[in-house]
Amino acid sequence: MTTKPLSKPEITELTSGLNKLARNLWWTWNQEAQELFQELSPRGWQNLYHNAVAILHEVSDYELGVRLQAPDFAERVRRVLAAFKQYMEEKETWAAKNAPQLKDRPVAYFSAEFGFHETLPIAAGGLGILAGDHAKSASDLGLPFVGISLFYREGYFQQAINQENWQTEYYTLLHPENLPIEPVLDARGQPLVCKVRIALNDVYFQAWRVNVGRNPVILLDTNRPENEQHYRDLTLRVYGGDSTTRIMQEILLGVGGVRLLRTLGYQPSTFHMNEGHAAFLTLELTREKVAKGKSFADAFARTKEECLFTTHTPVEAGHDRFSSDLVNYAANKFTTQLKISHQELMGLGRVNPENADEPFCMTVLALKCTRAANGVSELHGEVSREMWQCLYPGTPVDKVPIGHITNGIHLLGWMKGPVRRFWRRKLSKDWETSGDTETTRFWNSTTGRNWESVINSSEFWQRVADPTFISDEEIWALRYRLRRELVEFSRRRLLLQGQNLSQGSFIMFDHFLNPDALTIGFARRFATYKRAPLIFQQFEKIVRLCNDTKRPIQFIFAGKAHPRDDEGKKFIQQIIHLSKYSDLKGYLFFIENYDVHVARQMVSGCDVWLNNPRRPLEASGTSGQKTSVHGCLNLSILDGWWREGYDGTNGFAIGDDTHPASIEEQDSLDSSNLFSALTEEVIPCFFDRDAGGVPREWIKKIRRAMVTLAPEYSTWRMVQDYTNKFYTKF
Ligand SMILES: *Cc1c(COP(=O)(O)O)cnc(C)c1O
Repeated sequence: MTTKPLSKPEITELTSGLNKLARNLWWTWNQEAQELFQELSPRGWQNLYHNAVAILHEVSDYELGVRLQAPDFAERVRRVLAAFKQYMEEKETWAAKNAPQLKDRPVAYFSAEFGFHETLPIAAGGLGILAGDHAKSASDLGLPFVGISLFYREGYFQQAINQENWQTEYYTLLHPENLPIEPVLDARGQPLVCKVRIALNDVYFQAWRVNVGRNPVILLDTNRPENEQHYRDLTLRVYGGDSTTRIMQEILLGVGGVRLLRTLGYQPSTFHMNEGHAAFLTLELTREKVAKGKSFADAFARTKEECLFTTHTPVEAGHDRFSSDLVNYAANKFTTQLKISHQELMGLGRVNPENADEPFCMTVLALKCTRAANGVSELHGEVSREMWQCLYPGTPVDKVPIGHITNGIHLLGWMKGPVRRFWRRKLSKDWETSGDTETTRFWNSTTGRNWESVINSSEFWQRVADPTFISDEEIWALRYRLRRELVEFSRRRLLLQGQNLSQGSFIMFDHFLNPDALTIGFARRFATYKRAPLIFQQFEKIVRLCNDTKRPIQFIFAGKAHPRDDEGKKFIQQIIHLSKYSDLKGYLFFIENYDVHVARQMVSGCDVWLNNPRRPLEASGTSGQKTSVHGCLNLSILDGWWREGYDGTNGFAIGDDTHPASIEEQDSLDSSNLFSALTEEVIPCFFDRDAGGVPREWIKKIRRAMVTLAPEYSTWRMVQDYTNKFYTKF
């Protein structure tokens, strides 16, 4: 049978559809959409680091037109575009039903960083990833939402390791035309330009829109010809520069963000501050009211009703503090506009407003000007109430108005490609589809629910407990496949990292890593409280475990230290050193340049996800939440989310639900508890195989992890919590 060739208009329609699709991050959580771009240029896909926009630059319009004449390809493009359209136009969303009052009053969500995808590296770590996942789930739920952040044209740094095994940083310029972002234009089609007063200057900024499904996230950018160079460079790097840069970035984010929203006609119902960086938005909202004739006190009190604050860390360095001189220099305009004195302004950021020695703390400002505040896990809520009780004199600690909503992850976004397909196939057996099972959206005729809601539902994951729904063998096969993919990914990375080694040594790399070994992963920022090298305190014993050829184990580490954190860099150096020169050589590997892509490989391919922070400093942690849908198990201190997630059957705990007061005691206790959990529980369970070679008990734990963790620790649940508890209460 021959098919009629596509006409010119049909080709134009599909081509422009693909261009639109590439500039909406929806494709990053839709497997079939992703595969279209991949198929257009498989090598380009790898070399351009999975960048759909760049692929469409790589493939000429002429080639695209020719390729679309392949009937099955054109058909798949059509189906993906139809699914995309259906997603974008869906009316019966969760939020339409549960939060109708937000329809024309969106939530404005401010965050200094957003992590969406490896092609837009403007996040430093978990805080940004959480913001990105929040935005994706807000879209899936149909929540009216607009995000605000900065466009860092050199992004977060790339990591290289030098001859001394010391981390060095380099930056690459991001090219907007090659990114999934679009300029925000004014009525004449020119870049919209706003300004904000910083120190003695008007600083001009333009904006870029990231389409995150149905919602925009807008990135402010001071790289404008009107500005002096140092202001153009204000948005150069994520958390770059010194505290002067920092306070200026934060004025831009908070004040500039509100200005831009107003220029675009937004009337948000809630201004949600993701961490204290954005807290200057409270002063801009207050200024608006003072300009209309309200007193400062009245304006501030009303602003408070509009704001919501999420605090993310008990670590001291995580709370920005600025000296009185710096505030006076960078933010002096506030005092005239708000009609208050410098001392009064400083008082807003002080626990004790009278204390002239106290610096200005962004967290304090945020807490003083917010109708509700929360930590990001139950324990972190408790810790935050203790930490900030000083702001509420006379209030008992359990009455301090800081609650908690435990973090989650965007489940579909974090699922590795084959795993998305795996679960989708499983699903299609029981769920009606309106056509093709691969590309169209799912509807269940009784509940009328779509694919995003099904994959996030506990009913779906509950079924994983049933061996007739999915067999042990099938789960084990998936584990083997994912581990192999990680092993091969790591070999490729190690080969690239080892470029300076002598020729011929690449042959060696093909023998690196054992596809049968119990693979233990650790990847996150190398902040010292996360104690990356803790397990190697038991060095001799770990070496002995590694030498047990009947029960092979291996470790993969990755992570970046902050450019100014020499202690974190020492941890990296120590681990790489062990991997190259100690008896752990061949059992321990360090993958350079940790990012979203490396994270996805690791959380899917590892068997065990190691997490050993110094409790209670890991407010939530989210990387461990990305593992369960892949059948990887957590081995973690009972801190942050794992203290709530662990139920005795769904992974492994290190130690108990307490911690000693002294750090030395804690470190030595935790390292010995870690070692005993590993040797008494993890290793025996993993290698306990039946006659068919299947580790039944291990797989039981995998099932339990999927049933209990996947639907609970998702941003689908988290954004619903924010909506029910806070967003709809304005
Ligand atoms: C998930 C993720 C994080 C956060 O991990 P934690 O466990 O919270 O430390 C940081 N960086 C990247 C790239 C991630 O994907």
